[in-house]
Amino acid sequence: MAMYINQEMCISCYACEQECPTKAIKFSNGKFEIDPRLCVECEGFYEEQQCVAICPIDGCILKLEELQ
Ligand code: SF4
Ligand code: SF4
Repeated sequence: MAMYINQEMCISCYACEQECPTKAIKFSNGKFEIDPRLCVECEGFYEEQQCVAICPIDGCILKLEELQ
């Protein structure tokens, strides 16, 4: 279970990167990405997903399983 960032919506504000307890969010090749091997959906750390909570763009960060 992991989250992903919709690249077309992300405004590269950097807000999510520092909130992630597992350092799953990286900036590479000019865009922010969530490493699905590191993202634990904040389970065991917080009640809600910190990246989703801080992202200023509604619907920019979604659950990977919602893609399918
Ligand atoms: S849901 Fe939590 S663990 Fe996953 S990328 Fe967002 S802040 Fe990091
Ligand atoms: S908080 Fe949202 S808009 Fe900002 S860098 Fe992260 S995903 Fe992109």
